[in-house]
Amino acid sequence: AEERLNQSQKMEAIGQLTGGVAHDFNNLLTIIIGNLDMIVRKPENPQRVERLATSAMTAARRAAEVTEKLLSFSRRQLVRPETVNPNRLLKDFQALLRRAVGETVEIRFDLDAVLDPVRLDPGQFESAVLNLAVNARDAMPNGGVLTVKTCNGHLDAAEIPDRPDLQPGAYVLVSVTDTGQGMEAATRNRAFEPFFTTKDVGKGTGLGLSQVYGFVRQAGGHAQIKSEVGRGTSVELYLPRSAERAAEARPDNALPLRQAV
Ligand code: ADP
Repeated sequence: AEERLNQSQKMEAIGQLTGGVAHDFNNLLTIIIGNLDMIVRKPENPQRVERLATSAMTAARRAAEVTEKLLSFSRRQLVRPETVNPNRLLKDFQALLRRAVGETVEIRFDLDAVLDPVRLDPGQFESAVLNLAVNARDAMPNGGVLTVKTCNGHLDAAEIPDRPDLQPGAYVLVSVTDTGQGMEAATRNRAFEPFFTTKDVGKGTGLGLSQVYGFVRQAGGHAQIKSEVGRGTSVELYLPRSAERAAEARPDNALPLRQAV
Protein backbone atom coordinates (compact mmCIF):
# COMPACT_ATOMS: atom_id res chain seq x y z
CA ALA A 1 0.00 0.00 0.00
CA GLU A 2 2.90 2.31 0.74
CA GLU A 3 4.17 2.11 -2.81
CA ARG A 4 0.68 2.78 -4.14
CA LEU A 5 0.08 5.82 -2.02
CA ASN A 6 3.32 7.10 -3.47
CA GLN A 7 1.69 6.82 -6.89
CA SER A 8 -0.94 9.39 -5.98
CA GLN A 9 1.71 11.56 -4.37
CA LYS A 10 3.60 11.25 -7.64
CA MET A 11 0.53 12.48 -9.52
CA GLU A 12 0.37 15.46 -7.20
CA ALA A 13 4.05 16.17 -7.73
CA ILE A 14 3.51 16.09 -11.49
CA GLY A 15 0.66 18.56 -11.04
CA GLN A 16 2.86 20.93 -9.07
CA LEU A 17 5.75 20.49 -11.46
CA THR A 18 3.66 21.27 -14.53
CA GLY A 19 2.09 24.24 -12.76
CA GLY A 20 5.58 25.59 -12.01
CA VAL A 21 6.75 24.95 -15.56
CA ALA A 22 3.75 26.76 -17.02
CA HIS A 23 4.55 29.77 -14.82
CA ASP A 24 8.26 29.89 -15.79
CA PHE A 25 7.31 29.40 -19.38
CA ASN A 26 4.84 32.26 -19.32
CA ASN A 27 7.42 34.63 -17.85
CA LEU A 28 9.89 33.73 -20.58
CA LEU A 29 7.27 34.14 -23.31
CA THR A 30 6.40 37.57 -21.91
CA ILE A 31 10.06 38.62 -22.34
CA ILE A 32 10.24 37.22 -25.87
CA ILE A 33 6.98 38.81 -27.01
CA GLY A 34 7.91 42.12 -25.37
CA ASN A 35 11.28 42.27 -27.12
CA LEU A 36 9.88 41.31 -30.53
CA ASP A 37 7.19 43.91 -30.10
CA MET A 38 9.79 46.61 -29.43
CA ILE A 39 11.72 45.51 -32.53
CA VAL A 40 8.64 45.65 -34.74
CA ARG A 41 7.64 49.10 -33.45
CA LYS A 42 11.08 50.67 -34.04
CA PRO A 43 13.18 48.51 -36.37
CA GLU A 44 15.53 51.25 -37.73
CA ASN A 45 18.30 51.15 -35.10
CA PRO A 46 20.46 48.06 -35.73
CA GLN A 47 22.23 48.14 -32.33
CA ARG A 48 18.93 48.30 -30.50
CA VAL A 49 17.47 45.52 -32.64
CA GLU A 50 20.49 43.34 -31.93
CA ARG A 51 20.29 43.92 -28.18
CA LEU A 52 16.57 43.12 -28.07
CA ALA A 53 16.93 40.08 -30.31
CA THR A 54 19.80 38.71 -28.21
CA SER A 55 17.76 39.08 -25.05
CA ALA A 56 14.78 37.33 -26.72
CA MET A 57 17.07 34.51 -27.81
CA THR A 58 18.41 34.02 -24.29
CA ALA A 59 14.85 33.76 -22.97
CA ALA A 60 13.93 31.28 -25.74
CA ARG A 61 16.94 29.09 -24.86
CA ARG A 62 15.91 29.08 -21.21
CA ALA A 63 12.38 28.10 -22.24
CA ALA A 64 13.84 25.19 -24.22
CA GLU A 65 15.73 24.08 -21.10
CA VAL A 66 12.53 24.20 -19.08
CA THR A 67 10.66 21.95 -21.53
CA GLU A 68 13.64 19.60 -21.75
CA LYS A 69 13.47 19.20 -17.97
CA LEU A 70 9.78 18.35 -18.16
CA LEU A 71 10.37 15.86 -20.98
CA SER A 72 13.14 14.06 -19.13
CA PHE A 73 10.87 13.85 -16.08
CA SER A 74 8.13 12.19 -18.10
CA ARG A 75 10.61 9.85 -19.80
CA ARG A 76 11.62 8.62 -16.37
CA GLN A 77 8.16 7.06 -15.96
CA LEU A 78 9.27 3.78 -17.50
CA VAL A 79 6.66 1.35 -18.76
CA ARG A 80 7.05 -2.20 -17.48
CA PRO A 81 4.43 -4.38 -19.17
CA GLU A 82 3.56 -7.80 -17.74
CA THR A 83 1.02 -10.46 -18.61
CA VAL A 84 -1.59 -10.25 -15.89
CA ASN A 85 -5.07 -11.26 -14.90
CA PRO A 86 -6.92 -7.96 -14.33
CA ASN A 87 -9.32 -9.61 -11.85
CA ARG A 88 -6.40 -10.60 -9.69
CA LEU A 89 -4.86 -7.11 -9.82
CA LEU A 90 -8.17 -5.50 -8.92
CA LYS A 91 -8.80 -7.94 -6.09
CA ASP A 92 -5.39 -7.07 -4.62
CA PHE A 93 -6.40 -3.45 -4.94
CA GLN A 94 -9.85 -3.56 -3.33
CA ALA A 95 -8.87 -2.37 0.13
CA LEU A 96 -6.98 0.65 -1.15
CA LEU A 97 -9.86 1.64 -3.44
CA ARG A 98 -12.26 1.37 -0.52
CA ARG A 99 -10.13 3.72 1.52
CA ALA A 100 -9.73 6.10 -1.41
CA VAL A 101 -13.49 6.62 -1.90
CA GLY A 102 -14.26 7.02 1.80
CA GLU A 103 -17.24 5.92 3.81
CA THR A 104 -20.03 7.82 2.07
CA VAL A 105 -19.54 5.86 -1.15
CA GLU A 106 -20.55 2.23 -1.41
CA ILE A 107 -18.09 0.32 -3.57
CA ARG A 108 -19.09 -2.87 -5.41
CA PHE A 109 -16.79 -5.25 -7.22
CA ASP A 110 -17.86 -7.57 -10.01
CA LEU A 111 -14.65 -9.46 -10.76
CA ASP A 112 -15.74 -13.02 -11.45
CA ALA A 113 -15.85 -13.13 -15.23
CA VAL A 114 -13.44 -15.59 -16.81
CA LEU A 115 -11.02 -13.35 -18.67
CA ASP A 116 -8.09 -13.71 -20.98
CA PRO A 117 -4.87 -12.30 -19.57
CA VAL A 118 -3.89 -8.82 -20.68
CA ARG A 119 -0.51 -7.20 -21.17
CA LEU A 120 -0.02 -3.96 -19.31
CA ASP A 121 2.03 -2.16 -16.68
CA PRO A 122 0.37 -3.11 -13.36
CA GLY A 123 1.49 0.08 -11.61
CA GLN A 124 -0.04 2.24 -14.31
CA PHE A 125 -3.21 0.18 -14.34
CA GLU A 126 -3.58 0.72 -10.61
CA SER A 127 -2.95 4.46 -10.96
CA ALA A 128 -5.62 4.59 -13.66
CA VAL A 129 -8.23 2.77 -11.57
CA LEU A 130 -7.35 4.90 -8.55
CA ASN A 131 -7.74 8.08 -10.63
CA LEU A 132 -11.15 6.87 -11.82
CA ALA A 133 -12.24 6.02 -8.27
CA VAL A 134 -11.17 9.44 -6.96
CA ASN A 135 -13.07 11.18 -9.78
CA ALA A 136 -16.13 9.05 -8.98
CA ARG A 137 -15.88 10.00 -5.31
CA ASP A 138 -15.65 13.69 -6.25
CA ALA A 139 -18.74 13.28 -8.45
CA MET A 140 -20.73 11.84 -5.50
CA PRO A 141 -20.32 14.38 -2.68
CA ASN A 142 -23.50 13.11 -1.05
CA GLY A 143 -22.65 9.46 -1.45
CA GLY A 144 -23.59 6.89 -4.04
CA VAL A 145 -22.43 3.64 -5.54
CA LEU A 146 -19.17 2.97 -7.32
CA THR A 147 -18.97 -0.26 -9.32
CA VAL A 148 -15.73 -1.74 -10.59
CA LYS A 149 -16.49 -4.47 -13.08
CA THR A 150 -14.64 -6.64 -15.57
CA CYS A 151 -16.09 -8.57 -18.50
CA ASN A 152 -15.30 -9.73 -22.01
CA GLY A 153 -15.80 -6.86 -24.41
CA HIS A 154 -15.71 -6.27 -28.11
CA LEU A 155 -14.50 -3.32 -30.16
CA ASP A 156 -15.79 -2.52 -33.58
CA ALA A 157 -13.03 -0.48 -35.20
CA ALA A 158 -15.54 1.36 -37.40
CA GLU A 159 -16.94 2.95 -34.25
CA ILE A 160 -13.58 4.55 -33.49
CA PRO A 161 -12.60 6.46 -36.64
CA ASP A 162 -9.81 8.40 -34.92
CA ARG A 163 -7.91 5.23 -34.02
CA PRO A 164 -6.91 3.50 -37.24
CA ASP A 165 -4.20 1.64 -35.29
CA LEU A 166 -6.78 -0.21 -33.20
CA GLN A 167 -7.50 -3.86 -33.98
CA PRO A 168 -11.19 -4.75 -34.03
CA GLY A 169 -12.21 -7.77 -31.98
CA ALA A 170 -12.27 -9.11 -28.44
CA TYR A 171 -10.91 -7.03 -25.56
CA VAL A 172 -11.02 -7.29 -21.80
CA LEU A 173 -13.34 -4.56 -20.59
CA VAL A 174 -12.81 -2.88 -17.22
CA SER A 175 -15.51 -0.39 -16.29
CA VAL A 176 -15.67 2.05 -13.40
CA THR A 177 -19.19 3.35 -12.94
CA ASP A 178 -20.58 5.91 -10.51
CA THR A 179 -24.03 7.22 -9.67
CA GLY A 180 -22.74 10.80 -9.43
CA GLN A 181 -23.51 14.13 -11.08
CA GLY A 182 -22.45 13.07 -14.58
CA MET A 183 -20.88 15.26 -17.27
CA GLU A 184 -22.26 17.70 -19.80
CA ALA A 185 -21.32 16.78 -23.38
CA ALA A 186 -18.85 19.70 -23.46
CA THR A 187 -17.03 18.31 -20.43
CA ARG A 188 -17.12 14.73 -21.66
CA ASN A 189 -15.62 15.73 -25.01
CA ARG A 190 -12.63 17.37 -23.35
CA ALA A 191 -12.28 15.22 -20.23
CA PHE A 192 -9.25 13.23 -21.47
CA GLU A 193 -7.29 16.39 -22.33
CA PRO A 194 -4.31 17.07 -20.06
CA PHE A 195 -4.99 19.98 -17.68
CA PHE A 196 -8.70 20.06 -18.49
CA THR A 197 -10.55 20.39 -15.20
CA THR A 198 -13.85 21.81 -13.98
CA LYS A 199 -12.68 21.63 -10.37
CA ASP A 200 -11.56 24.56 -8.23
CA VAL A 201 -7.92 25.65 -8.29
CA GLY A 202 -5.95 23.41 -5.97
CA LYS A 203 -8.56 20.65 -6.16
CA GLY A 204 -8.17 19.40 -9.72
CA THR A 205 -5.06 19.10 -11.84
CA GLY A 206 -6.82 17.92 -14.96
CA LEU A 207 -4.28 15.11 -15.19
CA GLY A 208 -6.28 12.15 -13.86
CA LEU A 209 -8.14 11.17 -17.01
CA SER A 210 -5.22 12.09 -19.23
CA GLN A 211 -3.14 9.55 -17.28
CA VAL A 212 -5.93 7.00 -17.81
CA TYR A 213 -6.06 7.72 -21.53
CA GLY A 214 -2.27 7.72 -21.93
CA PHE A 215 -1.97 4.43 -20.11
CA VAL A 216 -4.72 2.66 -22.09
CA ARG A 217 -3.49 3.97 -25.39
CA GLN A 218 0.08 3.01 -24.62
CA ALA A 219 -1.13 -0.49 -23.71
CA GLY A 220 -2.75 -0.74 -27.16
CA GLY A 221 -6.33 -0.35 -25.95
CA HIS A 222 -9.08 2.21 -25.89
CA ALA A 223 -10.88 4.30 -23.27
CA GLN A 224 -14.33 5.83 -23.53
CA ILE A 225 -16.71 7.74 -21.31
CA LYS A 226 -20.45 7.29 -21.06
CA SER A 227 -22.14 9.87 -18.91
CA GLU A 228 -25.53 11.34 -18.20
CA VAL A 229 -26.05 14.50 -16.17
CA GLY A 230 -27.72 13.71 -12.88
CA ARG A 231 -27.39 9.95 -13.36
CA GLY A 232 -23.72 9.10 -13.38
CA THR A 233 -20.66 8.22 -15.36
CA SER A 234 -19.05 5.07 -16.63
CA VAL A 235 -15.48 5.01 -17.86
CA GLU A 236 -14.72 1.95 -19.96
CA LEU A 237 -11.20 0.66 -20.52
CA TYR A 238 -10.77 -1.77 -23.40
CA LEU A 239 -7.54 -3.67 -22.76
CA PRO A 240 -5.95 -5.85 -25.41
CA ARG A 241 -5.65 -9.54 -24.64
CA SER A 242 -2.14 -10.84 -24.26
CA ALA A 243 -0.75 -13.06 -26.99
CA GLU A 244 1.20 -14.83 -24.28
CA ARG A 245 -0.87 -17.30 -22.30
CA ALA A 246 1.81 -19.37 -20.64
CA ALA A 247 1.66 -17.69 -17.22
CA GLU A 248 -2.10 -18.11 -17.05
CA ALA A 249 -2.13 -21.72 -18.22
CA ARG A 250 0.19 -22.88 -15.47
CA PRO A 251 -1.65 -25.17 -13.05
CA ASP A 252 -0.23 -23.48 -9.99
CA ASN A 253 -2.43 -20.41 -9.89
CA ALA A 254 -0.76 -19.23 -6.71
CA LEU A 255 2.18 -18.15 -8.86
CA PRO A 256 2.75 -14.43 -8.49
CA LEU A 257 1.57 -12.95 -11.78
CA ARG A 258 2.71 -9.63 -10.60
CA GLN A 259 6.26 -9.17 -9.49
CA ALA A 260 7.28 -6.59 -6.96
CA VAL A 261 9.21 -3.79 -8.61
P1 ADP B 1 -9.46 16.47 -12.34
O1 ADP B 1 -10.18 15.36 -11.63
O2 ADP B 1 -8.20 16.85 -11.66
O3 ADP B 1 -10.33 17.64 -12.68
P2 ADP B 1 -9.48 14.65 -14.60
O4 ADP B 1 -8.65 14.65 -15.84
O5 ADP B 1 -9.44 13.41 -13.78
O6 ADP B 1 -8.96 15.89 -13.76
O7 ADP B 1 -10.99 14.98 -14.95
C1 ADP B 1 -11.28 16.07 -15.82
C2 ADP B 1 -12.70 16.54 -15.61
O8 ADP B 1 -13.62 15.51 -16.04
C3 ADP B 1 -13.09 16.80 -14.15
O9 ADP B 1 -12.71 18.08 -13.72
C4 ADP B 1 -14.59 16.61 -14.19
O10 ADP B 1 -15.25 17.76 -14.69
C5 ADP B 1 -14.78 15.53 -15.23
N1 ADP B 1 -14.94 14.21 -14.62
C6 ADP B 1 -14.00 13.23 -14.52
N2 ADP B 1 -14.50 12.13 -13.93
C7 ADP B 1 -15.80 12.39 -13.66
C8 ADP B 1 -16.88 11.64 -13.07
N3 ADP B 1 -16.71 10.39 -12.63
N4 ADP B 1 -18.09 12.24 -12.96
C9 ADP B 1 -18.28 13.49 -13.41
N5 ADP B 1 -17.31 14.25 -13.97
C10 ADP B 1 -16.09 13.71 -14.10
